[in-house]
Amino acid sequence: MRLSRYFLPVLKETPSEAQIVSHRLMLRAGMIKQSAAGIYSWLPLGFKVLRKIENIVHEEQMRAGHIPMQMPTLQSADLWKESGRYDAYGEEMLRITDRHGRDMLYTPTAEELITDIFRSNVSSYKDLPLTMYQIQWKFRDEIRPRFGVMRGREFYMKDGYNFDLSKEDALHAYNRHLVSYLRTYERMGLQAIPMRADGGPIGGDYTHEFLVLAETGESEVFYDSAVTDLSFGDREIDYDSVEQCQGVLEEFTTKYARTDETHDEALFGAVPEERRRTARGIEVGQIFYFGTKYSDALGAQVQTAEGEKVSVHMGSHGIGVSRLLGAIIEASHDDNGIIWPEGVTPFHAGIVNLKQGDAEADAACEALEKALEAAGLEPLYDDRKERAGGKFATMDLIGLPWRITVGPRGLKNGVVELTSRRTGESEELAPEAAVAKLI
Ligand code: ATP
Ligand code: MG
Ligand code: MG
Ligand code: MG
Repeated sequence: MRLSRYFLPVLKETPSEAQIVSHRLMLRAGMIKQSAAGIYSWLPLGFKVLRKIENIVHEEQMRAGHIPMQMPTLQSADLWKESGRYDAYGEEMLRITDRHGRDMLYTPTAEELITDIFRSNVSSYKDLPLTMYQIQWKFRDEIRPRFGVMRGREFYMKDGYNFDLSKEDALHAYNRHLVSYLRTYERMGLQAIPMRADGGPIGGDYTHEFLVLAETGESEVFYDSAVTDLSFGDREIDYDSVEQCQGVLEEFTTKYARTDETHDEALFGAVPEERRRTARGIEVGQIFYFGTKYSDALGAQVQTAEGEKVSVHMGSHGIGVSRLLGAIIEASHDDNGIIWPEGVTPFHAGIVNLKQGDAEADAACEALEKALEAAGLEPLYDDRKERAGGKFATMDLIGLPWRITVGPRGLKNGVVELTSRRTGESEELAPEAAVAKLI
């Protein structure tokens, strides 16, 4: 991509309405533009990162055997009246009336809708287990939308739902989600710690939230510092293996880690004092087992092998896809801007031409651009007629992991400069060697 042809409306000034660094940087880097309180347009750079995050979520869900699908953003209120949540959900639900006076709503979550799909189509234990998920826009009329995409009103969320014959099977689905979430966040360069939490309006008392530790987080958390040493890494996992998934759950959830709603001073007191931590965290996901709450309410039953009719055991599992952009930036930035982890970066490398219009420099930049593209990478070539300082500042702000700087002086010696955004370290090397380092 050539920067001269791209749409990257970077801001020089720090927007005063933004209270936290991720919101400021997303506005300054031209990633989002607010359209109404808590509702944003995703400009090209922000949209690109959103898609990268979404793809990782898809890949890890499919790896775990979960099936992608899509439900609408607008729902009829009928199912919610049937489940009893239409009145219970409260002011966060955006209620709409269509021209015929029918009650509609913008989906804040989709337990009812998916349970209706299930009950209309599945009647035998033979069709279980089943887990389907979607990545879809949600709307919650948050009382205080703030911090940019962190607490939006319209936000992008992955929501998955499992249907199982027994509690045991449903807990295996729960564990599968826990494992797939650990993998998902690690691929984004994030440490998200599973913590015992509260069910809220989804219901159920067996639930974990995934929290990214950050001072700007809205949740208060209490944990044994030993949990921060855990990482899933690149180990192989068989998602069909009950033992393996259970083993991971135990490894990651046995040590004390809870949000304030479930915090227990007595249990916390049993953690060695030097390992007791109180901190703040950003909730980037949550998994729930809620048994037959929705299947009882909506009559989602299957016939067992013995011919008996039973309510299915369910759970639901969410990831805050759009909130993750904010969480990643909170965890990875410096004074000059964003530092994207490789897994989610919008472009792999920036090419900075120090002397646009110089035939040799232009040709070298174009050759680098072609070579990177041929290797399957996406470079962003700053081909504008700007001062070098301004080009560097833009590259630092938008946070691409690598910058290749090309100028007539270096080219005389056959070299370009390769700079790491994270460490700031630079080295001079032949253009081919720079390309080889990035692939
Ligand atoms: P919160 O406690 O932050 O209000 P929640 O517990 O109400 O979140 P869930 O119902 O668990 O949210 O939804 C799943 C995920 O969707 C959350 O873990 C979070 O990452 C994300 N999410 C929830 N509300 C918002 C929002 N208003 N803006 C952006 N992301 C959100
Ligand atoms: Mg909420
Ligand atoms: Mg919550
Ligand atoms: Mg939650």
